[in-house]
Amino acid sequence: MTQVSSPTHGGGCLCGGVRYEVAGPMRSVVFCHCSLCRVQGSIATVGVARRSLRLIEFESLRSFDSSPVARRWFCGVCGAAIYWDPLGEPFVAIFAGSLDQPTGLDAMAHIYVHEVPDYYCIADDLRQYSGPMHPERSGSRLEELPEDHDLDLADDVEDTAVEIMAEGTAPNRRVGGSA
Ligand SMILES: [Zn+2]
Ligand SMILES: [Zn+2]
Repeated sequence: MTQVSSPTHGGGCLCGGVRYEVAGPMRSVVFCHCSLCRVQGSIATVGVARRSLRLIEFESLRSFDSSPVARRWFCGVCGAAIYWDPLGEPFVAIFAGSLDQPTGLDAMAHIYVHEVPDYYCIADDLRQYSGPMHPERSGSRLEELPEDHDLDLADDVEDTAVEIMAEGTAPNRRVGGSA
């Protein structure tokens, strides 16, 4: 089931140079198997409203423009992946590994399953999508999810299209970045 956790949840990197707080609901975890998330080292992602993410410590926060439409934020000291930023969208996707435990979240789906690495076997019953769920890429989004998923969100996220992210393989993927 899609789940919305209690408001205000902390997270951060390994070294303490990045700390943040999510002051609002979080979506269920989506596992993104795209090559970009895989190489960055975090496939578990959690959609949250952009305005609900508050950076508390960010001295070592760095970014990498992984495509013309998205930026990936990480700690420049310890390398921890922090969040995926679809530029101009009202949501971001936090890399779930950076959230403090327990998160209270469940998992919802796998996306980009056509890019699952050869050593990995998806062995759960979660919904699988071969492509992105981002409307910019596929014209589809949450409507693709099965009807038995409760997609109702709390008021402050409801209209922000927490599409869940899925950057995937942008054709003009850029090599190089800002950090
Ligand atoms: Zn760090
Ligand atoms: Zn991805």
